[in-house]
Amino acid sequence: MSYVLVINSGSSSIKFQIVDPSAGATDTPLVSGLVEKIGEFRGGLTIKHNGEKHEHVLTIPNHTAGFKRAFAELDRLGCGPTQLDINAVGHRIVHGGTIFSEPVLLDETVVSTLRELIPLAPLHNPANIDGIEVARRLLPNLPHVGVFDTAYFSDLPDSAAVYAIEKSLREEYHIRRYGFHGTSHEFIAGELHKQFDQPAEEINHITLHLGNGASASAVRGGKPIDTSMGMTPLEGLVMGTRCGSIDPGIIFHLYREVGLSIDGIDKLLNKRSGMKGLAGSNDFRDIHQMIKDGSQDAQLALDVYVTQLRRILGSYMIQLGRVDAIAFTAGVGENDPVLRRLALADLENFGVKLDDSRNESVGEGVQLISTDDSPTRVYVVPTNEELAIAQKVDRLVG
Ligand code: AMP
Repeated sequence: MSYVLVINSGSSSIKFQIVDPSAGATDTPLVSGLVEKIGEFRGGLTIKHNGEKHEHVLTIPNHTAGFKRAFAELDRLGCGPTQLDINAVGHRIVHGGTIFSEPVLLDETVVSTLRELIPLAPLHNPANIDGIEVARRLLPNLPHVGVFDTAYFSDLPDSAAVYAIEKSLREEYHIRRYGFHGTSHEFIAGELHKQFDQPAEEINHITLHLGNGASASAVRGGKPIDTSMGMTPLEGLVMGTRCGSIDPGIIFHLYREVGLSIDGIDKLLNKRSGMKGLAGSNDFRDIHQMIKDGSQDAQLALDVYVTQLRRILGSYMIQLGRVDAIAFTAGVGENDPVLRRLALADLENFGVKLDDSRNESVGEGVQLISTDDSPTRVYVVPTNEELAIAQKVDRLVG
């Protein structure tokens, strides 16, 4: 059996999995691991393999040390990248700009193009590039492939992708809607299409990827026509710690009246807003418990989240005209029946009829949660971004 090593290198963490690309969406990967708190005194390395969890508290000064430590531990467990039959390394890359609309073999030229894209994703792409450089140095004999979060949305219609600001600025500075979580949205589309007898070209659907980051996509006949994240992953739905769409005038107000710096505002809106900013926690399990305990802040947070979700859902229903399916996915979408019920409440006149008992008792795999006579089918579809990346990498390297 051959595997793909999938790497998601962030600014202070490295997530990795060793995945069989022919596995199912809910299969456990051969290995999954996390290097966290890179650059802090007390960092950590966790590896799950053969049903066992191996945890170490370590100081990990940088990404090079993180990768070296992780690969050494994998070797010790007998599942190192050079011990297994690994075909290729897949790197998750957040922003591909308008240049990368497909997975690409990573060589020096591609990496230097990625560097040119850093201004579009200053919080994400530098850490992705660090991961690519270190992994290529440590595993020079394997092909390394970049898979882009933006790729699935690279053909969005201009009417959805263009922001209403001056043309010359827009063009010179590459300001447009790129969309993110594309690997997940594409994977869900594939899983949904398997539920229908018609070809993908005849199916319209909406995917609600509701995790700590959250985004929605409207897909007509297999092609995305709109998505809620924008030039950056800050736009759209309310998220765990991100505000989603707000009046851009608030940014001027925070700068002029509150005296926050641009970096301070960036941090506020990305890290201290969303559910965390509203209720103090970005975990929906806490939010529901807080509501039970009488917290008005938590109730308001849930109401704001649901209102914004329904604004976007309604807009996609109108744009698509006919919706054959709605899919809920990611941590909240897959696990929170209350949220799903609130999101789709009172939409019977629009052809969406949730089956409460199916919604409450979701099992493994793709699950139908609408009634049998609902014109729009509603599904819970487990996402698996690492598997989706492994499949794309496997197709590219053969
Ligand atoms: P993700 O980013 O897809 O890993 O999603 C993580 C989020 O999923 C967490 O922050 C929680 O808010 C949410 N989550 C995970 N498990 C549950 C659950 N059982 N019920 C409600 N929300 C959940």
